[in-house]
Amino acid sequence: MKTFPMFLCVADRPVVIVGGGEQAAQKCRLMLKTEARIIVAWPHLEAELESLAREGKISWHSGAISRALFDDAALIFIATGCPGSAAAIQGLTRSSGAVVNVVDQPDLCTAMTPSLVDRDPVVVAIGTEGTAPMLARKIKSQIETMLEPQLGGLAALAGRLRNAVARSVPKNGRRAFWRWVFEESPRRLHAKGAEREAALALKTAMAAGGAPDHNGRGTICLVGAGPGSADLLTLRAMQRLQEADVIFYDRLVDPAVLELARRDAERVYVGKQVGANQWPQKNIDQVIVAAALSGKSVVRLKSGDPMIFGRAEEELEAARNAGIPVEIVPGVTAAIASAAVLGRSLTERGKTDRVVFATGTCKSGDPSPDISDLLQPGTTVVLYMAVNATPRFSRQLKQQGFASDFEIDIVCSASRLDQRALRTTLGKLEDTIERENVQNPSIFVLRAPKLHAITNGIEPCQLNHTASLPLIA
Ligand code: SAH
Repeated sequence: MKTFPMFLCVADRPVVIVGGGEQAAQKCRLMLKTEARIIVAWPHLEAELESLAREGKISWHSGAISRALFDDAALIFIATGCPGSAAAIQGLTRSSGAVVNVVDQPDLCTAMTPSLVDRDPVVVAIGTEGTAPMLARKIKSQIETMLEPQLGGLAALAGRLRNAVARSVPKNGRRAFWRWVFEESPRRLHAKGAEREAALALKTAMAAGGAPDHNGRGTICLVGAGPGSADLLTLRAMQRLQEADVIFYDRLVDPAVLELARRDAERVYVGKQVGANQWPQKNIDQVIVAAALSGKSVVRLKSGDPMIFGRAEEELEAARNAGIPVEIVPGVTAAIASAAVLGRSLTERGKTDRVVFATGTCKSGDPSPDISDLLQPGTTVVLYMAVNATPRFSRQLKQQGFASDFEIDIVCSASRLDQRALRTTLGKLEDTIERENVQNPSIFVLRAPKLHAITNGIEPCQLNHTASLPLIA
């Protein structure tokens, strides 16, 4: 290593920034995250610095720049934007003993500024000794996704309670206590914004003399895996994947999403084909509950959002009956991903002001849904699991008088590499399905605009059935 990372103590100490333009303002923004006393030295300040000086957030030294300015400084930035003056000013700083950073002139620096992931008081600094700034940015964004924005708050809470924990939790239980705080329910609660509940959980555990014993029970988390593409996962979903001991996933979960799990996490496929019974739901309920009862952190990874056509209720009930705490992490459902693929909103002002998510395939034995009932004027209907139901719903629509040129959008494998968007009409729907080999997973989007939107520009007497009129795009 040519450089060595350290954390500089700057609270209440002067940090001098020499310069009055944008470079100096950048350094100033960085330093404003700290508790340093910031002095900006330059005859003129750009607008942002000037207003910070007026608000008293920084001090402005507009006089001559001499050695004395740097006497007690903890850190000096030279950000004049002019290499000649920067070198001269750097000469003046030498006797101060402060750490010096000269912007864009590594040879004149005694320290470089790292890329930061800031969860104050938790701070991660990344440096590549100037070799690969792009790589530093990439690493930074990876770490950003691992550390939830609220993590600093939890660390600060832990800091405030540290002495009290030392008094109330016996030494041999302290590691387990802090592991519980940072890996289990307090962290989860805090991460989702339930700060008060997290603090209460900590204090209750302290009063009881240690981390709660779940009688060896683990947890279950239903996690939405999104429509396929791994970068459509939420940060919370990613964190749960990285904490899981075992992950139960199904057919539509993309392998790239599973890649994000801890290397040593067990992965169990519990896929179901529509209509086929490789993994009956009851068995899935049983295995996830059994894994949690054996003390594991279980993630049940479900495509899209777990609460949309995902049979989550059955898994939730099984978990609750076994007394296992359950968390639900939402995901991007296929309907929403499909709208993005189509580049067209599911609601259009003045035309459609409600959206119906419906399934083409119900529980066997249940009456088949009639799509034409749902497709009232002003409605967008998004159909899941509908490929095999196409003959039925196209017959229903025709019987209800929808015209053969009624438009239907189909999105196959939204967000995946093989994603396709097809526009067809009611008259050609079955042909399109056959010719284009439309398979699951696919979404159908049907739109019935409001009456006044349809009649706009058309004589009212031509109206006999809303859907038999051409749509206004
Ligand atoms: N919980 C899931 C839906 C599961 S039902 C969600 O919220 O998205 C399975 C159906 O979802 C599939 O038959 C298909 O209609 C739809 N689906 C899932 N992923 C899809 C994708 N990437 N593209 C298009 N449709 C998808």
